[in-house]
Amino acid sequence: MTEYLFPPSPQAALRVRGQKALYPVTRIFCVGRNYAAHAAEMGNEVDREAPFYFTKMPAALTPSGGTIPYPPGTADFHHEMELVVAIGAPAYRVSRDQASNMVLGYACGLDMTRRDLQGQAKDKRRPWDIGKDFEHSAVVGQLTPAVALGDIGPQRIHLDVNGQTRQDARLADMVWSVAEIIAHLSTLYHLMPGDIIMTGTPAGVGPVQPGDRLAGGIGGLDPITVTIGPGA
Ligand code: MN
Repeated sequence: MTEYLFPPSPQAALRVRGQKALYPVTRIFCVGRNYAAHAAEMGNEVDREAPFYFTKMPAALTPSGGTIPYPPGTADFHHEMELVVAIGAPAYRVSRDQASNMVLGYACGLDMTRRDLQGQAKDKRRPWDIGKDFEHSAVVGQLTPAVALGDIGPQRIHLDVNGQTRQDARLADMVWSVAEIIAHLSTLYHLMPGDIIMTGTPAGVGPVQPGDRLAGGIGGLDPITVTIGPGA
């Protein structure tokens, strides 16, 4: 039996609706600028040639329903409500038609962002990591099996903060569809079960403060809630 100097981190995992077994998470991919109105509010144009990505560490994964600390190093902590896709089969260089067969399920997610640090990184042409990839920055709800959601498009995606709607769109507003994202990402990585993809946020991102209660939903999926706690 392998011995370690200290206990290894627990396996990051998501609950799955109707199942006892958890979905173990290996990698978290995130898509940037996947809703035209959000790209515009950030002063960007959508890149029509190909989607682009950043990543979060699995250790950043946080379940729905709890409280996350207001993170250090920022004065502009933002919510980004997103559809999360969980890969359920190996996918390498798959076609768009094949891609939908690779999805095990979907969930609501929040790509929490230190916007000021992300903005500074953009200005200095540095990586986004400290703006995007930090403790508790990937809040993800329970997975719903793909068969239960059906075709993606008409579902509403929204986020309320303290009961006020901040983000409100349709999944059909995504620039790159789930199938297109999987097909493209599978040209860059050997996607495997355990890989999840946060597919980008609609317009309406904004700051949150300690004490704020976030409640998000996507039609057909289990909702997501999180409360912002005091500073870490
Ligand atoms: Mn995002």
